[in-house]
Amino acid sequence: MPHISPPRAWAEVSLSALKHNLSVIKEATRGAQMMPVVKAGAYGHGLEPVAQCLDREGIVFFGVANVGEARRISQCGCRTTPYILGPAFPEEREEIVLNNWRCFMSTLEEGDHYNSLATLYGKTLPIHVSVDVGMGRGGLLIDQVPALLERLSAWDHLYIEGIGAHLPSADENRETTERSIAMFTHVVETLENRIPVPYRHLCSSAGLLGYKVPCANLVRPGICMYGYPPIDSPWNDHLKPALTLKSRLTVVRMLPEASGVSYGQEFITNQPTRVATVGLGYADGYMRCLYKAGARVYYKGQFCPVIGRITMDQFMIDVSQVQNVTPGDPVEIVGDHVTVPELAQKAGTITWEILTSIGPRIPRIYID
Ligand SMILES: *Cc1c(COP(=O)(O)O)cnc(C)c1O
Repeated sequence: MPHISPPRAWAEVSLSALKHNLSVIKEATRGAQMMPVVKAGAYGHGLEPVAQCLDREGIVFFGVANVGEARRISQCGCRTTPYILGPAFPEEREEIVLNNWRCFMSTLEEGDHYNSLATLYGKTLPIHVSVDVGMGRGGLLIDQVPALLERLSAWDHLYIEGIGAHLPSADENRETTERSIAMFTHVVETLENRIPVPYRHLCSSAGLLGYKVPCANLVRPGICMYGYPPIDSPWNDHLKPALTLKSRLTVVRMLPEASGVSYGQEFITNQPTRVATVGLGYADGYMRCLYKAGARVYYKGQFCPVIGRITMDQFMIDVSQVQNVTPGDPVEIVGDHVTVPELAQKAGTITWEILTSIGPRIPRIYID
């Protein structure tokens, strides 16, 4: 056996935190059914391990972004049906029909195509109607609902299993969100006057934590399940971030006063400074803009500032204030002390982008 060295940067993921968060969300939504959203490699936490961990937690679908992710869910032994949260290309639909995956139907033409594929393969395909309540990304427009009702009888190989929509501003604007909820409720009632619709779903994290949607019975939690609630709610203190990103000091040196640090020598020491190099860079998702924004890491009880530009695979920190600095020591890049929201705010972005930027070079280690 060749010797395998320990990683120089890694993410620790607590699967028990994810299960805990899912149970908090169940409590918060009082009996709603669950579609945990595991798209984009489970928001950077690792698609297969997260899906395997949640598969038997009393859920009905896994929310994914595309057929590639749906296939990975099916191939890793999960029994929960993948649900593709967006329109599918014509070339993708055959695979969806053959596997009984769910998708959001956005146009009547899509419905026609699914119906003919289902007819071809001699099956009845469960399908969800998507309605556009203001997101502008997909779904039937409200004034197309009468045409949908007319078309239903022609779709003899489709079974309308659900209706869904997506809120564009649930974490920003209460007034427009209430209007979107009213639109959704109206469409659900219209459709249900005609046929029963088992699943009605509107809310992602901000919606489910901040609003009541009495006509809905399924929610699609993403970011809050990973531990980062996007709006204030009484449940926030109960949610636990599941991911910690760590790296190690690769070298520690004393630099004299007036030494340049990193590309462009934008940082110059103003006194003799103990500088440690960290084994992670912007290629791993530690964004280059963070240096100028005053990023810091946590090491042996202290916050150490990032000095000099972040490079592709490494960056430098000032460890002058820390005792017993030792190469190889782990540092917290993101975790309990330097939080994902702090980093997002400094990078001028959102928690979702910080998490999904953690690169493929970072091994994910499952700690419990
Ligand atoms: C990504 C996504 C979600 C999950 O959103 P969060 O804000 O992370 O909870 C839910 N529904 C749809 C349609 C999505 O695209």
